[in-house]
Order: sequence, then structure tokens, then C-alpha cells
Amino acid sequence: MALQKTEWSDGAACRGIENLLFFSPDVMESKEVRSRRERQAKQLCADCEVREDCLNTALAQRESYGIWGGLNEIERRGLLRT
Ligand code: SF4
Repeated sequence: MALQKTEWSDGAACRGIENLLFFSPDVMESKEVRSRRERQAKQLCADCEVREDCLNTALAQRESYGIWGGLNEIERRGLLRT
């Protein structure tokens, strides 16, 4: 994944997992394919021991794309507005 190297990322459940699971491809992705991809990524995040650190980093860095801490970019923007 496109995280900066940090101590917490050593415990990431997604280490060694293909980035394409967490980020949309450059080509058009259908709603169904995106939904399935994001659901699989979020399942990994749900059991990740560094989920909170991951999400907090993404929020602090205003990450514009991808699944971080179990949330996609739309869900993170919603959190930032509250
Ligand atoms: S919360 Fe998800 S994206 Fe973040 S490190 Fe864990 S598995 Fe990877």
C-alpha cells in the first residue's frame, strides 16, 4: 500500500497484499466490481491490529484515494466534516 514507512505499518494485515485491492485501478471500474473489491479490503481491515493508526494517518494526511483503516475516501471525507 502507499503508506509512508512507519512503525505501526509493520503490523499491517495488508502487508504483502496486492495494492489493487485497496485502490481503484486507472481504468474504469464498475460499481459492482468496486463494491466487491472494497468489501474484501474492508474485511482485512476489520481484523487489522493497526487499523486505528492507519485511519488516523489517512485522516491527518488527507489521503484522497483508497481504503485506509477500513474506510474509503468518501467515508473519510464524511468523518472529516463531522
Ligand atoms: S487498516 Fe487496512 S489498510 Fe490499514 S494497515 Fe490495516 S489492513 Fe492495511
